Amino acid sequence: MAVSACRIAIKLLRLLGRGGTAIPGKIALKICPELLGYLAKDVKCVLITGTNGKTTSSRIIEEIFAKSGASYFANRSGANLINGITSIFIENSTLTGKPKKEYAVIECDEAASKEVCRLINPSVVLVTNVFRDQLDRYGEVTHTLENILIGIKNSPNAVICLNADCSLTASIATEIPNKVMFFGVDVPIYNDPVSEVSDAPHCIKCKHEYDYSYHTFGHLGGFYCPNCGYKRPETQVSVTEILDTGISSTTVRVSVFGDSEEIVINLPGGYNIYNAVGALAVSEAIGFKRETAKSAIATFSCGFGRMEQFDLGGHTARIILVKNPAGCNQVLNYLSSLSEKTVFVCCLNDNSADGRDISWIWDVNFEKLADMDEFIDEIYVSGIRSADMAVRLKYAGINESKLKIFDDYDSLIKAMEKQILPVVIMPTYSAMMDLRSKMSAAFGGKEFWE
Ligand SMILES: [Zn+2]
Repeated sequence: MAVSACRIAIKLLRLLGRGGTAIPGKIALKICPELLGYLAKDVKCVLITGTNGKTTSSRIIEEIFAKSGASYFANRSGANLINGITSIFIENSTLTGKPKKEYAVIECDEAASKEVCRLINPSVVLVTNVFRDQLDRYGEVTHTLENILIGIKNSPNAVICLNADCSLTASIATEIPNKVMFFGVDVPIYNDPVSEVSDAPHCIKCKHEYDYSYHTFGHLGGFYCPNCGYKRPETQVSVTEILDTGISSTTVRVSVFGDSEEIVINLPGGYNIYNAVGALAVSEAIGFKRETAKSAIATFSCGFGRMEQFDLGGHTARIILVKNPAGCNQVLNYLSSLSEKTVFVCCLNDNSADGRDISWIWDVNFEKLADMDEFIDEIYVSGIRSADMAVRLKYAGINESKLKIFDDYDSLIKAMEKQILPVVIMPTYSAMMDLRSKMSAAFGGKEFWE
């Protein structure tokens, strides 16, 4: 009954032209609270969680499954809470709740992971990293870490893939009996990275300040506690050399269980190097062919606001989702490698999906953007909190004559369309959802549930 109710709800919502992915699952869970557990019983699940990089990592892993010819489904739409995850399992079950596919690739919100893990009993869990994110929703980083740890303790049969460079994530290994695979980056990524506030300056075990042999970004890198000896663990999959950083891709040398592999990553940006090696670790844990994984990493496309491109009629607009200081600083690191005049767009919202507290913009090093003045044609600011965003940019030293505030997305889109220069858009989550929906309608593109 729960399965049927959910399917009818999905059909109705699609007829209405809506991609409602959470409501049908919510209805089903009202009828049968443990439904997800029954549906996932005979499905081998890969669960991806962590603060940043969940969606991109999931898309790479999905591409590896696709290229391997595996029978799988995934929660494509970013519906990563228990309701949305239940909906996607129902869509991939028969009416009696039997699975139609062998595997599931599930992106899961950090806070939801403890309950989702208990129900789906994953075979592999990937933790990308733990950063400070939406304080009002997730609380301090240690609280997020605690949620993820409970989820993993609810996953007794899973191989756990952990980011060795994140002192918070890596600490999970000593708390669990599971098989663990560590991935990381053995070398600095940027010549001149933005200076940023560390989200984890003090040892998770003893509170002493860490020393680092190198930094990649944020608090990630070769950490070492001089007091208790807690340090970055040995890795099984890690980047040993950055060979080439391009505008649209990165080439790296990776050591995989001692084998040296050259890998092209079909997205720019240092943070995507982590997403690629995390996905590679998952692939190794499942036992896919390495050549298949390499080919998937070289060709996957992410879309959905992660470096997603729109053609505005002769010039392109790229949407890069920003949601917290660490993620936004990495986007600025990437942008500082651009070498053509560009129009920048910042859209700041404070809906619950973005986090109500927008003070995080003061922890982002927007001064790095001001340093790029010669490449900035104009900066457009929009969203519910556009005035706050404009103030932040003024304090960062952005040339005021280049700042323009737009009260609505229609006039913003018109202004972008009139441009002839490339446009880079940095929206928060709900701003991205609204804006890309309007841009898809105007310039072509898929709806988010497709
Ligand atoms: Zn320590």
